[in-house]
Amino acid sequence: MTKPTEDDLTGVEARQSPKPEVEAIGGRKLKPATLMMGHGYDPALSEGALKPPVFLTSTFVFPNAAAGKRHFEGVTGKRPGGASGLVYSRFNGPNQEILEDRLGIWEGAEDALTFSSGMSAIATLFLSLVRPGDTIVHSGPLYAATETLIARVLGRFGVNWLDFPAGATREEIDAVLEKAHAAGRVALIYLESPANPTNALVDVQAVRASRDAIFGAGDEVPPIAIDNTFLGPLWSQPLRHGADAVVYSLTKYAGGHSDLVAGAVLGAKPLIDTIRAMRNTIGTICDPNTAWMLMRSLETLELRMSRAGENAAKVCAFLRDHPKVERVGYLGFLAEAEGRQADIYRRHCTGGGSTFSLYLKGGEPEAFRFLDALKIAKLAVSLGGTETLASHPAGMTHLSVADDRKQALGITDNLVRISIGVEDADDLVADMEQALGAV
Ligand SMILES: *Cc1c(COP(=O)(O)O)cnc(C)c1O
Repeated sequence: MTKPTEDDLTGVEARQSPKPEVEAIGGRKLKPATLMMGHGYDPALSEGALKPPVFLTSTFVFPNAAAGKRHFEGVTGKRPGGASGLVYSRFNGPNQEILEDRLGIWEGAEDALTFSSGMSAIATLFLSLVRPGDTIVHSGPLYAATETLIARVLGRFGVNWLDFPAGATREEIDAVLEKAHAAGRVALIYLESPANPTNALVDVQAVRASRDAIFGAGDEVPPIAIDNTFLGPLWSQPLRHGADAVVYSLTKYAGGHSDLVAGAVLGAKPLIDTIRAMRNTIGTICDPNTAWMLMRSLETLELRMSRAGENAAKVCAFLRDHPKVERVGYLGFLAEAEGRQADIYRRHCTGGGSTFSLYLKGGEPEAFRFLDALKIAKLAVSLGGTETLASHPAGMTHLSVADDRKQALGITDNLVRISIGVEDADDLVADMEQALGAV
């Protein structure tokens, strides 16, 4: 060991002053996977810590009284430009701000907000846009809790809804939007793609063209928001296809380890500011510890999603040819297919994801024998984690759905939903093979 030299001490000094962030090298813009390691965080502001600390504080100190007043002038609109800086943890915190900066990078979003769950993100989005008498137009089916929120909760406050099937054509979308437009103010066009468990993809480009044609460029143009939980941000980036806002349950692929619950909304700044005002009011923000865990998750997002996607392709190729399998609903097969859904897939998606529908020959007894025989895959709802999960929608998540609607959605007793993780692909194939053997 040598004593610290003058140079070393100068190094420590140098560490105290912020360094400008590198976002491009030689004119080459750095990719999201690179930026996830440090973007939006300056170690010099936190004692040189390589990783951001978890900022456990409910409130932030103003440097002086005038700065405090300036902040609230921004909040209340008395001064243009809005509020900046940190004041109170119901509004924001350092961990959440860094996470929001990094999340936005994946989809080239201008701004982003994080939430305590996917549902609190969706609820805050809705509350910030709807008024009594408004209509929400949405693709169907939606995540069950989102349907409940629209039809049963917002319905109590005089909000109406109209839907079109996820796979709808431009003409079908036009018809529903025209009807909604004629009925009054349309607050929002809300999409979810792929629909669960039908896997039907929404043609976001067609929805955008239809919205623009019917509502023109007036003041009352309803924003298009889309739940991108199943394919985002790696395999689908709807902001590039005409959506105004993208919604996430970060609980799934973004968090990716089945150890947290969180949500996000990404989009253009004016719309995000409207949603932020509602989040500030009701406090649906993600907590600092969860935000920290999500920053760690984002460092491996591309690795995890790429591996899970490759694994799913191998497992689905095996399942498709198995004699005990009736059909595999896996989006990756669309890459080589014909028809409208394949066309939407090729325009909107760069991969088939790792969550799919497996229809076994038989009914509930066959599905249950398969599920109970699995040795690697865990029997649980949810998706997008490092571990492979399997569940039975008809008997679990969709148990309370009426029989005729179940039939219409293809939620049959022989359906098993599988989310493939990052295990060894051949081990997963072996597990599926022995479980099918037990059917
Ligand atoms: C899980 C999920 C949600 C809800 O997210 P939470 O984090 O559980 O609140 C919303 N949409 C989709 C598509 C989901 O899979």
